[in-house]
Parts: sequence; C-alpha cells; structure tokens
Amino acid sequence: MKQNKGILVILSGPSGAGKSTVISGLTAKRGDIRFSVSATTREPRPGEKDGREYFFKTREEFFAMIGQDAFLEHAEYVGNCYGTPAAPVEENLAAGYNVLLDIEVQGAAQVMAHRPDAVSIFLCPPSLEELENRLHKRGTDPEERIQARIAAAREEYSQLHNYAYIVVNDDADTAVRELDAIITAELCRGERRLKNIFEGENLL
Ligand code: ADP
Ligand code: 5GP
Repeated sequence: MKQNKGILVILSGPSGAGKSTVISGLTAKRGDIRFSVSATTREPRPGEKDGREYFFKTREEFFAMIGQDAFLEHAEYVGNCYGTPAAPVEENLAAGYNVLLDIEVQGAAQVMAHRPDAVSIFLCPPSLEELENRLHKRGTDPEERIQARIAAAREEYSQLHNYAYIVVNDDADTAVRELDAIITAELCRGERRLKNIFEGENLL
C-alpha cells in the first residue's frame, strides 16, 4: 500500500463567518493538515504576523509574483489582492498532508476549475445580522469596511451552489467537528483510495 496523497480543501465563506476560528480548532485537532499561508496586499491586523496569517506584500511585490506565475489562484477582494503561493501547496500535498485554503469565491472557482479533486466547503454564519455582530466584535475593521464586507457576503452567497459542502458556524465546536468529519470521509472515498493507495496493487 502506498502512502496516501494529501487532499486539497477549499474553505470559503464571508469575512467574519469564523474561518480563522474553525481553522485553528481543526489544525489543533488534526496533525495531518497544513494551512496554506496566502499573500495579500492588505495591511496586517493587530497581532497578525508576517508568514503566519499572511505574507504581507506591497502591490508591486504582489504583481511581480503574478508575473512569475507563483500563484495557484489570486483575486481582488474589498480593495485588496489575495493569492495562494503554489509551491508550498504542491510540496505539502506530495508529502501526504491535507492542505487547507482559506480563500474567497473567485479564487475558489479558479482552483475548482483546475483541480476537480479539490474538496470545497462553504462556511456560513447563522445569519447576516450575526455576521455583522461578529465583525463589530472582532473590531479590526472601520464601519465602512464592515459594510463593504457585508455587501461582499451577499455576493458570495450567490456562489453557494458551487460548493460540495456547507457548514453553518453557529457553535464553533460543532462546526469544527463537521469539518473534521468531512475531511475524514473524503480521505475514505473509494475513488481516492483506489487512485492514491491501491493503484498498481493486486487486491484480488
Ligand atoms: P473569518 O476568518 O471568517 O474572517 P474570524 O474567525 O476572524 O472570521 O471570526 C470573526 C469573529 O467572530 C471573531 O471575533 C471570532 O472570535 C468570532 N466567532 C467565530 N466563530 C464564532 C462562533 N461560532 N460564535 C461566536 N463568535 C464567533
Ligand atoms: P481577510 O482580509 O478577512 O483576512 O480576508 C478576506 C477574504 O480574502 C476572505 O474571504 C478570505 O477567505 C480571502 N482570502 C484569503 N486569502 C486568500 C487567497 O489566497 N486567495 C483568495 N482568492 N482569497 C483569499
């Protein structure tokens, strides 16, 4: 039996839905996941560290990376650029880790088009009112940016049908359990196991 190749997991959802919160819970629970650190032109929030939450780039640096074809996908969101560096994703998948992308819907659509084997999950807040509460509670955005993020959320909901799974983040522990279950089930899928583990083996 070969070592299982990792799976690529896309997690999308409106800003403030709780993606960072559930990703922390999930990575604490499972040692087989690697979070893909994106590059962004957005300014760091208090407590964010370069290379941990994001690689913080100037627009010039970001566009140079596009020119070098360094991104698996990239998109603009509420006035800032975000992109997934391709090399670490491929390296971690090859090493057998499941790689988690926290990306918005346009970038997710690019990945789904090129990687049909990627597992797509949309994380919803229980309501748009609760989303607004959470953005206020997080306290990292001025009111104008919060309203832009709510408007972006409405647009993002129109892409819900493209996702294989929808998880509602009402209680965070429940959402983490559901994400954990999805990843476990996806690793057990017959077609994936046959391709990744048993290919070339004489089973009968
Ligand atoms: P995202 O990464 O999707 O932008 P965050 O993880 O930063 O969202 O969460 C936004 C805010 O909501 C944070 O203040 C976080 O503590 C809070 N939060 C996350 N999940 C829940 C939950 N299930 N119930 C209540 N508050 C939550
Ligand atoms: P935030 O500024 O709140 O950290 O992120 C804003 C949005 O950008 C979120 O929806 C998040 O999922 C998305 N995002 C973060 N990194 C990437 C990336 O590399 N590519 C794309 N397309 N979106 C990203």
